[in-house]
Amino acid sequence: MAHPTDCSDPHRQTAGSEPARAAATALLGPADPPPFELIHPQGRAPLLVVCDHASRAFPRALGRLGLPEEATWRHIAWDIGAAELTRALCARLDAPGVLAGYSRLVIDCNRRLEDPTCFVALGDGQPVPGNEGLGEAERLRRAAAIHEPYHKAIARRLHEFHVAGVVPALLAVHSFTPVLGREPRPWHVGVLWDRDPRIAVPLLERLRAEPGLVVGDNQPYSGRHPADYTIDHHAESAGLPHVCLEVRQDQLLAPAGIAAWAERLAAALGGILADRTLYEIWQAREPRREGGSR
Ligand SMILES: [Zn+2]
Repeated sequence: MAHPTDCSDPHRQTAGSEPARAAATALLGPADPPPFELIHPQGRAPLLVVCDHASRAFPRALGRLGLPEEATWRHIAWDIGAAELTRALCARLDAPGVLAGYSRLVIDCNRRLEDPTCFVALGDGQPVPGNEGLGEAERLRRAAAIHEPYHKAIARRLHEFHVAGVVPALLAVHSFTPVLGREPRPWHVGVLWDRDPRIAVPLLERLRAEPGLVVGDNQPYSGRHPADYTIDHHAESAGLPHVCLEVRQDQLLAPAGIAAWAERLAAALGGILADRTLYEIWQAREPRREGGSR
């Protein structure tokens, strides 16, 4: 979907722009959290774990975008439980991780900047007053302050692997609502992927071997969805082995549930990630599969 302010290379427009940098400084004050958090940086696994929707924080200057605080606890603002699951996975897999520092309502780090859904004015029926009629300058200000540093942190960590002669794997962690509209979602966990099956297919097999577990293959969202950014940009385009995980939020409401899912996922991923032949640049052997399911 084109947008009137399309920019083919968002980093070019934001990274090198002094006005944008100055604006970024103005957006985040000393009391605001940083745009990303590096976790378990000493991790030794050839794996980076990322969480685009880890946070429900808003820059103070944006005043929660006019939302009541209650709304900022809901899925429209963040992926409930995903940050803690990411932390637990990084510890169990001995891998570094990067958590995004702000709510997806400020800017969605899993969207290209030119994608209209990068800034939603209506999320799951909830109007977001501070995103209505958002101008280009404000979009660029948020991009420079949050989206760009988060993705640069991921790119920098991946580059460090590259410098060390390692082809790393990338794991993206999300969570989803048990009900969308009036439709219950039966899956406990979804494995999202597109062309590279190296982690996704054996992971589906391992998770489906567990009795009682309902496992979605590109459900409730599809890894083929063209709007997704993080995996496409950092892993698929570079041929890095990757997978995107979605865990249903009712599974992650308490520390015990998060710990159980971290253990389950780490156990299922462990054998796959232990295969040294995984860490090669993927050369697609078949054309892109068409379509998506959302
Ligand atoms: Zn998410």
